Amino acid sequence: MTNQPGAPAKKKDDSLSTILEPGQIEAAATAPPFLHLPSANLFEHRAARLEHLAEGHAFADYLRLIADLCRTQQQLLENPPTDLPVAAERQRLCLSHGLPPLAADSLVREGAWQPWLQALLEHLPPSGNSAVSEAVRQLRDSSEQQRTVWAIALLGGHYDALPAALVPFIGAALQAAWSSWLLALPNQELKAVGSLGQCPCCGSPAMAGLVRNRGRHNGLRYLACSLCACEWHVVRVKCVYCESSKDLRYTSLADDRHRAGKAALHAECCPGCQVYLKQCYLENDAAAEPLADDLASLALDLRLGEEGFQRLAPNLMLAPGGG
Ligand code: FE
Ligand code: FE
Repeated sequence: MTNQPGAPAKKKDDSLSTILEPGQIEAAATAPPFLHLPSANLFEHRAARLEHLAEGHAFADYLRLIADLCRTQQQLLENPPTDLPVAAERQRLCLSHGLPPLAADSLVREGAWQPWLQALLEHLPPSGNSAVSEAVRQLRDSSEQQRTVWAIALLGGHYDALPAALVPFIGAALQAAWSSWLLALPNQELKAVGSLGQCPCCGSPAMAGLVRNRGRHNGLRYLACSLCACEWHVVRVKCVYCESSKDLRYTSLADDRHRAGKAALHAECCPGCQVYLKQCYLENDAAAEPLADDLASLALDLRLGEEGFQRLAPNLMLAPGGG
């Protein structure tokens, strides 16, 4: 075994070989935790946040519909229809090759998530909304093959290849399955994969950022996965798409509830690639939640779109332009 460049020479006495030099000790102590895993009640937390944000909101009915869907997701998370579908050897191989162990692009074709969609359809409470009832009926009448085609399209970002009304239901089933599997992974020592905005657990794109305000994560930015809700650390003030830090701008909606600059959510806008990513600041509102706050700030997407900025981050609960 060879030493890393700059590391102290290996001593003959093995008991000394694990002693860290002062610089290494500082590096180990200050290295930010790479992951922040979702809590076991993440969907309940999301539902409560959506209901809070729905108060007086122009899209209150839609936010409450998604809150109900989140409560059904929480039921599935607590009573998982299937176990982790990836065997230990495949997990080990993925990790050793720097690949996400729950890669969405392959697992979505293998169908282990199908029982999750079936269970979601069985647990959904009846809706008084005719459009919702029609969407649920269409899903209930669909074959597994059709469901797979729609799910592949959704995770691939091809929103025009499935009916917009079905997006939240298919998205909810997929999210519940992947979050459950993430929390069941025995080895959660995940490493960065591909680009900054790609989830180390499932390879899906980030939905939004989150600047944390507590403990070891205080002041650090994490990106929240659009599928499995895994959060991974990415330094602040850096475009997660082109990695530029030049002239980034932070934009928020005017809001009576917050002083200027203290909004719970700002969009990090990059003039270099003309793309933005929303992020929540827990320091400004400790209850902020990426998916809920994203859906409640669609007016910001409209404004940034008019200014020529593009959004790349998916939210599996909403087809772009289909809300
Ligand atoms: Fe993920
Ligand atoms: Fe950029």
